[in-house]
Amino acid sequence: MAEELFTVRLMVDRSCNRVVFAESDGRFVDILMSFLTYPLATILRLTGNQVPFGSMNKLYESVASVDSRCLCSEACRSMLLDPIYLAAEECSRLPINIDEKHDLCCYICSDPDCDAEYLSFYANAQCSCGSSMAKKVRFSQSRGSTVKSEAGVFVVSSLGFMISDDLVVSQHSLVEICSLFARLGIEQGRNLEAMDVNLTADVITELLKRILVSDSPLTDVFLGEPKEKGKLMPLKNHSTHQIQARTSRTKPFSVKLMLNENGKKLVFAEADDEFVNLLVSYLTYPMGLVEKKLEGRSGIRCFDNLYRSIIESLASADCFKGVDLMNLLLNPELPRHLILEKNLLGFSLQRKEKFYICRTYDCDSDQVSTIGNAKCKGCKQISNRRLWAVNGSDGFMAQGRYMVRDDLVVKPLSSVMIVRDFLRQAHGGVQVMSVEIGQEEFAINVARSFQALALLRASVTSTQVLTDALMVGDNEIKSL
Ligand SMILES: [Zn+2]
Ligand SMILES: [Zn+2]
Repeated sequence: MAEELFTVRLMVDRSCNRVVFAESDGRFVDILMSFLTYPLATILRLTGNQVPFGSMNKLYESVASVDSRCLCSEACRSMLLDPIYLAAEECSRLPINIDEKHDLCCYICSDPDCDAEYLSFYANAQCSCGSSMAKKVRFSQSRGSTVKSEAGVFVVSSLGFMISDDLVVSQHSLVEICSLFARLGIEQGRNLEAMDVNLTADVITELLKRILVSDSPLTDVFLGEPKEKGKLMPLKNHSTHQIQARTSRTKPFSVKLMLNENGKKLVFAEADDEFVNLLVSYLTYPMGLVEKKLEGRSGIRCFDNLYRSIIESLASADCFKGVDLMNLLLNPELPRHLILEKNLLGFSLQRKEKFYICRTYDCDSDQVSTIGNAKCKGCKQISNRRLWAVNGSDGFMAQGRYMVRDDLVVKPLSSVMIVRDFLRQAHGGVQVMSVEIGQEEFAINVARSFQALALLRASVTSTQVLTDALMVGDNEIKSL
């Protein structure tokens, strides 16, 4: 990757050593906005899974270490830990792209005589014939333009932007500056000083890490307060906004919560693969999708600000290169193959993607096209075979019962583990509480909403996900 270095100008308040705002053309804004296109698993991978990100860290680790028998296939592990995202190609055109994504390739059955019509975006999927899908093939054309555009990726790069320390992005304007000064309590112009900093891939990665845990990522990265440096504290969830849960017609999932004797503390939850599939599928959600579902109030302030800046100021000022590019940030979609058939968050199941590959005997073309009846580049004939993408719609985790800890450590349930790790801790007494997620009556009473949305928000902001999302209200409590 050719890295093109560029400079961003910071306005620094020397009296308290903080960044008041950064000034940049569209390139820096493109980089910040690209963070919204990353699936949560990608954010965890890029930050080395070292920065607290709610309970997503433990969920990611659980998927990475779970026994293969607990997964529908090894390919499901890759789907969850390294999911495809639809903006990857746009991100590859960023001036600094910290996700050096391998080119989009896919795999077909390694048996040349197999006529199964499948293609997988992930290595190690098993073909219906029993062979491994290990033959690597490439897309004959990329989805969008591959020309490296001078004019930016998402926003018009020639425009000038102002970015506050907590990542509110706006165009330059006196009004914005005055309101920012008022918000920070700065007397105009006093102790302010301009400072130029260089952006590199390391700096951008550091920025992504700080966004997860801090309300002042620019100050942290560029001025580095020695007191705080290296210490990453999780953010408090300061969002009290209640989200209007949509009425769900899906059959509810049932989860059993094991509580300690006085019913105050969650010991662990027992759930089937459907519930666990819902949890692990969060790993595949782009951050922008999380923001969209939570209406820009995930509780991670900098991400919320980035997302809401699009709606509140950039969209109306026509800062984007196109509506489709803005929608990659504002209304990101999941690739079809990652959408669970039973989904509580109301993803529309668009038509399955179709792919085509040459089937002329002896042609060794390894090109896959999304267009049918196209001339093969190798043998120049028009003779296509249709392929369907292997997908995770039936679930990623194998059928069974699982133990889910409050911080989203997920393991297959075992009696030995229950006794060894939990009953002892609970000092004998345990209460069982059943909750149902996705039931209609809960949608009416938002305060008691046991919806997937509450679970999603708790997953990205809390280390007591089940307690925060499920243990409200007075549920039926059964004695063990
Ligand atoms: Zn096969
Ligand atoms: Zn051919």
